[in-house]
Amino acid sequence: MLILVCNVGSTSLKYKLFNMPNTDILVEAKIERVGSRDSAIFSYRNNLNGAREDLTGLCVPSYTEGINLFLKYLTDSRTGALQSVEQIDAIGFKTVIAKGYYGIHELTDEVIAAMEAYNSVAPAHNPPYIEAIRKFREILPGRLLVGVFETAFHTTIPLERKMYAIPYEWYEKYGIQRLGFHGASHGFISRQVRQRYGEKYRLISCHLGGSGSLCAIEDGKSVDTSFGFSLQTGIPHANRAGDMDSYIIPFLLDQGLALDEILKGIDKNGGMLGVSGVSNDLRDIEEAAAAGNVRAQLAIDVFCESIVKYIGAFYAVLGGLDYLVFTGGIGENSATVRGKVCRRLAHLGIRLDEAANAAGPKDRIVSTGDSPVKVCIIPTNEEIGIAQDILDNFAR
Ligand code: ADP
Repeated sequence: MLILVCNVGSTSLKYKLFNMPNTDILVEAKIERVGSRDSAIFSYRNNLNGAREDLTGLCVPSYTEGINLFLKYLTDSRTGALQSVEQIDAIGFKTVIAKGYYGIHELTDEVIAAMEAYNSVAPAHNPPYIEAIRKFREILPGRLLVGVFETAFHTTIPLERKMYAIPYEWYEKYGIQRLGFHGASHGFISRQVRQRYGEKYRLISCHLGGSGSLCAIEDGKSVDTSFGFSLQTGIPHANRAGDMDSYIIPFLLDQGLALDEILKGIDKNGGMLGVSGVSNDLRDIEEAAAAGNVRAQLAIDVFCESIVKYIGAFYAVLGGLDYLVFTGGIGENSATVRGKVCRRLAHLGIRLDEAANAAGPKDRIVSTGDSPVKVCIIPTNEEIGIAQDILDNFAR
């Protein structure tokens, strides 16, 4: 099944083409600075015939030009991998959230309207996706467009762990519940563990990047996650606060702060940036902490302590633990964070191999041979996760 996966950012479009079930990337391309008339950047790689292109200073004023540019290269006689776009069986999107549609769905008018209904829950993600999906539908009428919602992997969480203790009508009328995100990544990690170690497993997947979340997984199914209803929850993120007492907001309103000022504080100026005052990037924070910056060290400690608490909670939910996996930019690269978290959890049977944690191949085991819990670093690949979900749900 020929599947094109498209990752939409507010100013970027990224593409990967697969012929599933083969997970090799046939073609990959990226357009940055979509919206610019003279400074857009295009990079294109055809891994089948080695054709490549790197262009700068382009005029790509909207997603329409960004989509057409890629399709032109994809079907060109020199650079292309396809004779015609008609050969593409499905186009997959890592969509975030839609009211009432939490799984893997064909992007019909109803589903797009349901995404629009939750624009205020994911203001940075839903509007660009909706705009790009509409353009794809105009340019490629009749192609199957699929939204693999970031909530999809978590639809197996039992209701008692999804339900907030709020008036029940809010759940019924507005859909307020724990939804969870990073489904493409946690689903990919779960499939990797299954391929490597078999069908039965209790796993905690820690996706730690600019956005972070943990997921408790039992035999391939998500049974709990640190994200709640919106992306403003769970562990601290690069710029977002994560879990926070909801009554801080009316209290700050009472102190004279405006609502948009408060929201900016918790979704742009909060998180690792807010605590450290140094940066939203962990590399800068680790460097500052090593040089003695107290707030930078505090940000790292707050981050790790939150992860430790979720692992403890998920250990209880799972009734034990077989695998702890670190992934995402921080999970894959920060020996400091992995080390601090694992050293706090020796009593749960997590025994870190300090040398393996410090260095080694990108994909590796970092626990000792006799550790009851196997601790691994597995680089994530959300695009493969999306292509696999589409193959599982739409292959004829
Ligand atoms: P996003 O969630 O935006 O996709 P990534 O998964 O790429 O982000 O993760 C970005 C984060 O990974 C940044 O905070 C960055 O500091 C961190 N990171 C990347 N490399 C390292 C490293 N070598 N050491 C510590 N942190 C790192």
